[in-house]
Amino acid sequence: MYYIGIDIGGTNLKAGLVNERYEITATKKTPLQFESMEQMGEILARMAIELSEENGVPRDQVASVGMGFPGPVDDKQGVVIKTVNIPIRSMPVAEMFHRHWDVPVRLGNDADCAALGEFYHYENKDIESLILVTLGTGIGTGIILNGKIHTGVNGCAGEGGHTVIVYGGEPCSCGRRGCWERYASANALIRQTIAAMDSHKDSAMWGLTGGDLSRVDGRTAFEAMRKGDAAARAVVDQYLEYLACGLANVVNIFQPEVIALGGGVSHERDEDLLAPLQSMVLEMCFGREADRHTKLVKAKLGNDAGIIGAALLGIQ
Ligand SMILES: [Zn+2]
Repeated sequence: MYYIGIDIGGTNLKAGLVNERYEITATKKTPLQFESMEQMGEILARMAIELSEENGVPRDQVASVGMGFPGPVDDKQGVVIKTVNIPIRSMPVAEMFHRHWDVPVRLGNDADCAALGEFYHYENKDIESLILVTLGTGIGTGIILNGKIHTGVNGCAGEGGHTVIVYGGEPCSCGRRGCWERYASANALIRQTIAAMDSHKDSAMWGLTGGDLSRVDGRTAFEAMRKGDAAARAVVDQYLEYLACGLANVVNIFQPEVIALGGGVSHERDEDLLAPLQSMVLEMCFGREADRHTKLVKAKLGNDAGIIGAALLGIQ
């Protein structure tokens, strides 16, 4: 049997056929353009049908179609509650899809789908809990407990990026101040790097970016630190403190078996990122003396996580 996963992004729809070993065997991509919610249902169904037909997979060999949306969903009712950046509100996706293809349809939030993908691909198949923390424009979190996505009473659980780590701190797009993602997302790291460059005109960070602040990215401070630059070292140390603070909150609430870190920043060398974070988090958390601790690892799936995770909704 196969499972189809569709990752609904702000600009593209990406669909994949996933086999029983949780691997993608074929993909299809199309720009996201629709005029009505009705049409959106048709586009999704057509994409799934074409994906299976073009790859010689009969429709009765597809066990389910899972879809990951950038927002909260009600999987039981088959409804997308709302999405970020796409004009979808209270859309009965499953019903619209079923007008074209009567296959089991599952809906998930994209961060939750990505977490599910990491959970199924984790090296130790005996784990029951994993939390994916993705460092990007913001901080996305997806929570897997007892092998299942935890969505909360309204589909909105897993917004770890909007837990406050600095009371009354920097304003956040969510309306609160001092959210974790304002301090520890990849974008936050870039802002912190630029601020440090402004006050240290002799920093090696200037040389790395050719004196152009628009070329600063999440690697700039880490690279300059490895060249021995003190200002860059201070940026990284402070950034790791912020990151560890939020991770410790996650650990203190859930004590998950694994936290997987995703996003570009997670590709930094282990000795510069995961190793210091692991000991800082342990230092801050309850359970220091226990035999088992939350293990921090690098997320494995990268851009494929959304498709694989959406497809795996059908296995759940
Ligand atoms: Zn916030």
